[in-house]
Amino acid sequence: MNNEFIMKTYSRFDVTFDHGKGCYLYDTNGKKYIDFAAGIAVNSLGYANEKLENAILSQSKKLLHCSNLYWSQPQINLAKKLCQNSSFDKVFFCNSGAEANEAALKLAKIYAKKNKNENCTKFIAFRNSFHGRTTGSLSLTGQDKYQKNFTPLMPDVKFALFNDIESVKKLLGADICAIFLEPIQGEGGIVPAKQEFLAEIREICTKNDIVLVFDEVQCGIGRCGKLFAHQVYGINPDIVTLAKAIAGGLPMGAMLATDKIASSFSVGDHASTFGGNLLACACANAVIEEIANDSFLENVSQMSSYFISKLNTFKEKYSFIKDVRGIGLMLGIELDIPPKDVVNAAFKEGLLILSAGANVIRFVPPLIIDKKVADEGFIILNKVFESIK
Ligand SMILES: *Cc1c(COP(=O)(O)O)cnc(C)c1O
Repeated sequence: MNNEFIMKTYSRFDVTFDHGKGCYLYDTNGKKYIDFAAGIAVNSLGYANEKLENAILSQSKKLLHCSNLYWSQPQINLAKKLCQNSSFDKVFFCNSGAEANEAALKLAKIYAKKNKNENCTKFIAFRNSFHGRTTGSLSLTGQDKYQKNFTPLMPDVKFALFNDIESVKKLLGADICAIFLEPIQGEGGIVPAKQEFLAEIREICTKNDIVLVFDEVQCGIGRCGKLFAHQVYGINPDIVTLAKAIAGGLPMGAMLATDKIASSFSVGDHASTFGGNLLACACANAVIEEIANDSFLENVSQMSSYFISKLNTFKEKYSFIKDVRGIGLMLGIELDIPPKDVVNAAFKEGLLILSAGANVIRFVPPLIIDKKVADEGFIILNKVFESIK
């Protein structure tokens, strides 16, 4: 399958998906796929979820879009829910992860300019990070393969090594306004931050009045077994950015901040036409109601243990599996063979999995997954590993 009208920015599998149900996807020929990818950690409530369908239907009958020049109830409800379930006070809505990080770049900068000094405009980010494809968010993305054809990018981003506090300390100075990091690096290969590392970064930021930004675009919204990934660590950033799973498959991004930081934005400093779109907000309200709930999150934790134990069994059985890691249902196995071969073989057998970084297979299934569906996927995975061994 090829399409002459779509720009070739993606390498696509030879499949056209038509519909889904629960953790299954069906292509236009009716072939069924087990989904351990969830559209790259987006479809956390799976497919054809009734609560989402109802939210969309009832909102669609009222109003789809309302300018941010006016108030709307779904947006107000969602902002309240996000703040009441976190340590943040204010929300800015946008439409994607990259946009949420752009908003965070601007908020951190204006905070530093107003509260520190006019030249406090530099950022620290990390090698192997991923923060998006817009010029600002790409500038924070510490991977040469994404940056190289688009330089010069935004200046003044310095890169430290993830989980290496000394490399951060070396870059500190009066000109640093913010530190950006993913609590669990996703695209870079499923690398969780060490508890001690995050604690030390938090301390450094507090001491030096540096804005600490956690990009939870992938690891947030229940993926790690709590509504927010930083709640797993018990460490609060000043800003958190969200997207992917927040609206159950509709495009939405959000930046949450404490009042101390958020109050630096005045009217006109930032905006988004579609930010907080009513249909997306209606879905996000349904998503948060479902996920910010102990029994839902308990399933994520239980299924996480189940996945980890299965993956460890595979590791014992197949010598090409070097490591099993991750938190919640954001898991990875490191291989010493090309992950692409495994991903492609699994696809042919009807299992969707993702690669991450150079040598990792990433598992980010819908959070509603149960043991029955997981086992169906593991049977295919085992078959694929057998054929490769
Ligand atoms: C996917 C992702 C982004 C970018 O999100 P888009 O919605 O594609 O712009 C940013 N940060 C992280 C951690 C991501 O996983």
